[in-house]
Amino acid sequence: MPVTAEGTHRMPAAQQPDWPDADVLRAVTSELAACPPLVFAGECDRLRHRLAAVTRGEAFVLQGGDCAETFDGVSADQVRDKVKTLLQMSVVLTYASSVPVIKVGRMAGQYAKPRSSPVEVRDGVELPAYRGDAVNGLAFTREARTPDPRRLKGMYHASTATLNLIRAITTGGYADLRQVHEWNRDFVAKSPVGERYERIAQEIDNALAFLTACGANPAKLHSTDFFTSHEALLLDYEVALTRVDSRTGLLYDTSGHMVWIGERTRQLDGAHIEFAAQVHNPVGVKLGPSATSRDALALVERLNPDNVPGRLSFIVRMGRDRVRDVLPGLVESVKAAGAQVAWICDPMHGNTFKASSTHKTRRFDDILDEVKGFFEVHRSLATHPGGIHIELTGDDVTECVGGGDEILVDDLHQRYETACDPRLNRYQSLDLAFQVAELYRD
Ligand code: PEP
Ligand code: MN
Repeated sequence: MPVTAEGTHRMPAAQQPDWPDADVLRAVTSELAACPPLVFAGECDRLRHRLAAVTRGEAFVLQGGDCAETFDGVSADQVRDKVKTLLQMSVVLTYASSVPVIKVGRMAGQYAKPRSSPVEVRDGVELPAYRGDAVNGLAFTREARTPDPRRLKGMYHASTATLNLIRAITTGGYADLRQVHEWNRDFVAKSPVGERYERIAQEIDNALAFLTACGANPAKLHSTDFFTSHEALLLDYEVALTRVDSRTGLLYDTSGHMVWIGERTRQLDGAHIEFAAQVHNPVGVKLGPSATSRDALALVERLNPDNVPGRLSFIVRMGRDRVRDVLPGLVESVKAAGAQVAWICDPMHGNTFKASSTHKTRRFDDILDEVKGFFEVHRSLATHPGGIHIELTGDDVTECVGGGDEILVDDLHQRYETACDPRLNRYQSLDLAFQVAELYRD
């Protein structure tokens, strides 16, 4: 019998589409409720254990992927290149931080977007805003922009195909540490600022040579754990994928290993937090600059009353200008309450602006500066900077400005392909990993 996360439907749910046809929606959600789970409860528990190590400062999270995945983006090349980029970043971060890096894709489920306005106006024409491929199409036509509940099945199938590729890529030899390091070597050799990264790359070479000389060849060097995550925004979908774990009788959202609640839907009396409170996956909550200590503590109380380490992550997205002012208060109160929380820095969403070319963009240096601020705050409070949450792609897009292979505002039009927010391209992502690695040397 399909299970629903009880109570979610009784509370106000922000940012839900205006589905035009309730009967079709009902048919789709009951079909989804009968579909196989995408992930297993045991896998979600494994991620929770890993995140528990993050709360103790014994692991670091690298969470990343598109702002909005698209159905067209489910190609072997695109998924592989995104995973490859995350694997490359993670090798550098593992070496620098000397702790395991937990890889969590914003992948295999990131198909729905909250919007600041429900409509978009172009040349005097007003249409519903694009809410992600799970809801409507990006093309600016009435037909594309009308929400269609059948797209929820598209979300399930796109997630399934992506997850299948991820599982194959990360366990089928592609994630071999030496191979990934070779790709990084190649990046360092080609990057205009590669000299700066030479030292770290050389040290990793030496470490690998040492392992080889010792005859060490642990299985862990040849494959890797990789988890999936997305914003739990569309409650019709998430509830349909929520199942009782036969081992424990507890509810898990089987649409992804970790889900997070966004800055716009984290109301304490709203349906999203109610939903998150009922499922046993690791959950994240985004906290923007307006978040107060009271908000943070109330979320801890609602989402992790038993103070289970690894259950709750705060994904903070303050903006480079605010992180040093706003974050200390939140971290201090959470620390004073003895709450076990993994702190993850999203340096993307507080640093978006419109360039003179009219593209929505972000500066590489602002992104890096917010990460630096995040590390500084944790250092000064003797708490743990637990990870980074990045919007990125493995493709050579031109959506964010700056980086070693500098992208200028005038270049943005060349390959501006995002369906929503601007992403770091592959080189900018690797630049970021090497520069975050340098933060461990300061
Ligand atoms: C996002 O992660 O794409 C997003 C919309 O973030 P936030 O909820 O932090 O605004
Ligand atoms: Mn985004």
